[in-house]
Amino acid sequence: MDVAHGSGSAAVDRLRRSITGTVVVPDDAEYDEMRHVWNGMIERHPIAIVRAASTDDIVPVLRISRELGLRLAIRGGGHGVAGTGTVDDGIVLDLGILRRVEVDPDTRLVRVEPGATLADVDRATESFGLAVPIGVVSGTGIAGLTLGGGVGWLTRAFGLTIDNLRGASVITATGDHLAASAVENADLFWGLRGGGGNFGVVSSFTFRAHPHGPEVFAGTFIYELPRWSEALRAFAVWAQDAPPAITSLITFMVPPPAWELGDRVLMFLGFAWAGADHVRAADVVATLRNAAKPDVEVLEPMRWLAWQSAFDDLLPKGVRAYWKNASFARLDDGLIATLVEQAGAQTWYGTAADLHHMGGEFGSVAEDATPFPNRSAQYWLNIYGFWGDAADDPARVAWVRGFGAATTSHAMTGQYVNFLGDEGPRADARQQALLAYGPAKFERLMALKRRYDPDNLLRLNHNIPPG
Ligand code: FAD
Repeated sequence: MDVAHGSGSAAVDRLRRSITGTVVVPDDAEYDEMRHVWNGMIERHPIAIVRAASTDDIVPVLRISRELGLRLAIRGGGHGVAGTGTVDDGIVLDLGILRRVEVDPDTRLVRVEPGATLADVDRATESFGLAVPIGVVSGTGIAGLTLGGGVGWLTRAFGLTIDNLRGASVITATGDHLAASAVENADLFWGLRGGGGNFGVVSSFTFRAHPHGPEVFAGTFIYELPRWSEALRAFAVWAQDAPPAITSLITFMVPPPAWELGDRVLMFLGFAWAGADHVRAADVVATLRNAAKPDVEVLEPMRWLAWQSAFDDLLPKGVRAYWKNASFARLDDGLIATLVEQAGAQTWYGTAADLHHMGGEFGSVAEDATPFPNRSAQYWLNIYGFWGDAADDPARVAWVRGFGAATTSHAMTGQYVNFLGDEGPRADARQQALLAYGPAKFERLMALKRRYDPDNLLRLNHNIPPG
């Protein structure tokens, strides 16, 4: 498309007349920064980036994109791994300025605007001794995280982020304002809890928060490679009886130089306790320590906000990223051998694998209650990258792919869309969505898509085709 003439310039003129926010175009100084998203492998050149000044700017952007037949990317925090928060020759609707978070300490309900980051949510709730279960890197956007699912340090205690979503305000592709909750447009509410941004632009989310913090019991056990098998076997036994209040996340990686732990691959067994009973937490962690004595232990009083941003430095905007994931019923000897072989091969800094311990509240939600796949999974593996040099792309992508392929014989069906990278233009998006959700949920999501976005205006996402 010729962006200087035709529908490109028409779009810019109409946008400028219709919205109160800013329209950033290629000649503007901030264009280059703003066209980029978190994943540095994604290079796109939009016609215009609309920085919405209020949610009133959403409808005109939807209308103009639709009428001019332009591709439309919706951006919250810009951390979408597949890079769908930007687009070539189309319009980006950037909601990143809209970051207000309102906490009602009496009802424990938290209303969040769509550009808020996880840090915004944690900061607002922490002062009331509350927390919403969200992800583990504070710059991530609440919008994309929630619409995909939301896995983090409170998953076993309180469920996914979507399990704590009480309602949302949605503007559909045709500009209708709808409330979505268990009692209003319940079908749409179902779709929002895992179906991504397929059904409309969410202009606010309302979550239930839980008493938590500000001081938390959280820490990390570190293991050298020769001890991984023994430690993982002990962990698997401990995890079977671990109370839901504790969520563990095991990371296999070469640590960053700033951590001063050396440049060999290590296993970091992190854990966080939900709630105030730190005496009980210490007992539970002591049983793990006795079963699998760590080579190094880091366990000290910690503020929830500090813990929630402890890994931010690993994953700054602009790193290059390709991700894959898989879920498992158990951490058995076969899976342990695969993890040790694949993750243990990392001699470089810039990739990692996270093994999330699931179950608990996550597993108590009925399978058909949300589109999120596979509530019976006990473990979820995210294999990911955060390297800096484009020359490393082939080798790092190949490592993620190879690791993913090696786990397939152990894996259950279902993939978490927020932990999926960009498979490129040749990938079959329909097949990917089918694999992620499974046939029954995929059919139900397609029916919702036909109802709320039959022309697939909102297709820059893990797309559910209307038919
Ligand atoms: P964006 O790129 O802005 O949005 C992603 C997609 O969401 C958009 O393309 C659009 O389709 C849709 N979207 C965004 N806003 C709206 C809206 N208002 N209305 C409708 N659709 C919208 N996930 C976890 O579960 N737990 C984690 O701990 C975790 N950690 C992460 C750490 C990093 C460093 C990164 C990069 C990702 C992490 N993720 C995690 C994955 C994360 O949940 C997804 O990448 C998510 O999509 C990011 O949301 P965003 O708003 O920042 O992204």
